[in-house]
Amino acid sequence: MVTMLDDKSGRIFIDGEWVGSASPELDSIISPVTEAEVFRAAHGDVEDVNRAVAAAQRAFEGPWRDSTPRERSAALWEFASRLEARADELIRIEALNCGKPLEGAAWEIHDFAIDSLKFFAGMARNLEGVAAGEYMAGVTSFIRREPVGVVGGIVPWNYPAELAAWKLGPALAAGNTIVLKPSEGTPMSALLMADIAKDLFPPGVFNVVTGHGVPVGEALVRHPKVDMISLTGDVETGKIVAAAAASNLKRVHLELGGKAPVLIFDDADLARLKEVLPAGSFYNAGQDCTAATRLLVPDTIYDKVLEIVVDVAEAVRVGDPLSEEGSDVDMGPVASAEQLSRVAGYVDEARDGGAEVVTGGSTLDRPGFFYEPTVVTAVEQQDAIVQQEVFGPVVTLQRFKSDEEAIRLANDVEFGLASSIWTTNVSRALHVSRLLRFGTVWINDHLPLVAEMPHGGFKQSGYGRDMSKFALDDYTELKHVMARFA
Ligand code: NAD
Repeated sequence: MVTMLDDKSGRIFIDGEWVGSASPELDSIISPVTEAEVFRAAHGDVEDVNRAVAAAQRAFEGPWRDSTPRERSAALWEFASRLEARADELIRIEALNCGKPLEGAAWEIHDFAIDSLKFFAGMARNLEGVAAGEYMAGVTSFIRREPVGVVGGIVPWNYPAELAAWKLGPALAAGNTIVLKPSEGTPMSALLMADIAKDLFPPGVFNVVTGHGVPVGEALVRHPKVDMISLTGDVETGKIVAAAAASNLKRVHLELGGKAPVLIFDDADLARLKEVLPAGSFYNAGQDCTAATRLLVPDTIYDKVLEIVVDVAEAVRVGDPLSEEGSDVDMGPVASAEQLSRVAGYVDEARDGGAEVVTGGSTLDRPGFFYEPTVVTAVEQQDAIVQQEVFGPVVTLQRFKSDEEAIRLANDVEFGLASSIWTTNVSRALHVSRLLRFGTVWINDHLPLVAEMPHGGFKQSGYGRDMSKFALDDYTELKHVMARFA
């Protein structure tokens, strides 16, 4: 067990207090590195959600909705500063719970969680209405941008602290209150974040209820007093959530899966590609919705690119991030036994279907949920390993003969989250970036995100945007006020 969270075992955070759950059950939280129990979280129940939503609603109708942008901005900035002061604890918790290398966990906490909260601290003071005007004789119209109300924030297990911050920032900056539900496997950083924020926001503004998709997530989605659901998760979960939310037409914000194509043209800077692929494809053991998973390569440079990718995969140092040699580890395990069998299942199915596993393709013979960095070739466009999210350290290579074919293959998946183009020809880059149906297109890069720019998907990768001023739009309502003066 972890000392800093020991006293939070079985507890949830509602109305500014640590309270017991209505469910007597506890969920055992397992380290993916050692498979040992590291924490016991409240299993959570519908009654917990009801209490948390009631607290969030009271807070919304009371102090938070009436707070000034300056006050919300100051509170978010203070939250970010407190997280910064306790970043080492958060980083270790995230590494322990998810098996992340410390360097990666530090990047996520500092550059994505904390930075995004600072960004939204600034944005809280930049909510824009539209200048007043007389659009009809004798009346003045103006636009107010108002909070939506109580937000249910549902988070997955791959970036627990970062994605919690991505929901907290815009929700609270706009004057909403939130009930956050971390993933059942990775609740630890959200609990620590709540403890760090204790006494900072008025009670009920920020609540955390741990537990499973059903009943806890489902209860949030179905609750009539929850005004908006913001889910980051799997496409299938997104469909269930959108259908359930339709029962009372609450707003839904969905950041779902991805299957990013990497279009490598014959004029690409391959040295640069080699620098970017280790993180692009294998960061967080490939459990990244934007990971560079589908490499599309012309015949003319196919052998050269394959050699680079295999070199990159074989150079990834896999191990225990919290061991003595942890600072030399690039990649830890995948998140759970279930995830390990999912990853292995995709690779085995591809191999059985005639694909070639050029490197990797096995679990590691040691405790923990480790899978080798893997490169698979001779796959067909309709194969599951190409069409579906493997969410592990696995990349495929496919050949193309023309730019048109590359674009067609890239777009021919149900996802539309992220993609990258590798070329030194500016016209080609601009032409292809226009035709790709993905929410992000990188040119000669893959993976970086910044708080000022939107992150989100086309097609079944969902709707709504995280980060940037566009997220604030998603977390606010527009109101037209029309005043007759003559
Ligand atoms: P998941 O969909 O299984 O779970 C996500 C969250 O939804 C969890 O908290 C879970 O408990 C909850 N949930 C499950 N069923 C629910 C239901 N019926 N009602 C309400 N809530 C429910 O996803 P996961 O396996 O935890 O995470 C991996 C997925 O997240 C991948 O598909 C990945 O691509 C996606 N993801 C997307 C982004 C993005 O920005 N687009 C970022 C990270 C992860």
